[in-house]
Amino acid sequence: MKAIAIAGQGGMEKVQYVEVERPTIGPREVLIETRAAALNHLDLFVRNNLDSLKLTPPHVAGADGAGVVAEVGGEVSQVKVGDRVLINPALNCGVCEFCQAGEQSLCARFGIMGESRPGTFAEYFKVPHDNVHPVPEGFSWEEAAALPLVFVTAWRMLISKAAIKPGEDILILGIGGGVATAVLQIVKAIGLRAFVTSSSDDKLQQAKKLGADAVINYKTQDFAREIRSLTNRRGVDVVVDSVGGDSYSQSLASLVKGGRLVTCGATAGPRPQTDLQRIFWNQLSVFGSTMGNRREFAEMLSFVRKRGVKPVIDQVFPLADGANAFARMEEGKQFGKIVLRVGDGA
Ligand SMILES: [Zn+2]
Repeated sequence: MKAIAIAGQGGMEKVQYVEVERPTIGPREVLIETRAAALNHLDLFVRNNLDSLKLTPPHVAGADGAGVVAEVGGEVSQVKVGDRVLINPALNCGVCEFCQAGEQSLCARFGIMGESRPGTFAEYFKVPHDNVHPVPEGFSWEEAAALPLVFVTAWRMLISKAAIKPGEDILILGIGGGVATAVLQIVKAIGLRAFVTSSSDDKLQQAKKLGADAVINYKTQDFAREIRSLTNRRGVDVVVDSVGGDSYSQSLASLVKGGRLVTCGATAGPRPQTDLQRIFWNQLSVFGSTMGNRREFAEMLSFVRKRGVKPVIDQVFPLADGANAFARMEEGKQFGKIVLRVGDGA
């Protein structure tokens, strides 16, 4: 079968359209004929860190995917050949103390499709049977593939970690990124005020169309100061920061006393300067978050179904053009999800 595989640690030249062996499934696994797959920052991380992740090239990347069930293992009864499915990309052991407590994303052996085993950027991929969910009605294949990783990440951050409440103000950094955009969509569907930052006026305009109440270009404006003026000097209740880097201390400076910051990524740098004085004096809470557990995944799916929320698609590439899709992700110019269409996508 054809696949987009990482041929070795390195740059864009290592992202190759190649022939690889079609996966064979175990008794509790499902084989999916891919219709669409979506990129995440994780895929760049895998490409850059193939050696330390101990992955053997050619390694098929890709966490998110959707398609038609082609084959099911002997012990699988809930899923049938021909079902239209998307996947929960989180992999866990099922037996450690965290899995037993229903906190799969804290699993001692936690992994993600395309990172700890071959991924979705191929004509076929396999997953454990309980990672499979029906595609919500009215979703295209591209939307089904684009939804899972960023929406479950956004859901856990907002609902379980920050525990957002009616009347609160949320600041979202780096709008345009998949997680930030999902966060904005959930916040607006719930009906809270959302402020967003970007260095791109174009992305800020697109965020307005998604309902952002105020937009701030952080290259030309001091966003913490802007937040103070937008909130009568009070500050926001929650900052969702998937960026890190230089903006981190400004994130802290944007919070109301007792405010919460949630972090799920560090695309601008993992070791920012912080401000402990501000954290203890203003009694701030900082939450780390990674993807979500199975209950959160199901809640997120039910939420998007009921509210009619669909992921924003930036651009769709044929599988054969996977290297160009990686290049677009690396450029960081996207607004929403970069998607690969596999086969004719029908
Ligand atoms: Zn576990």
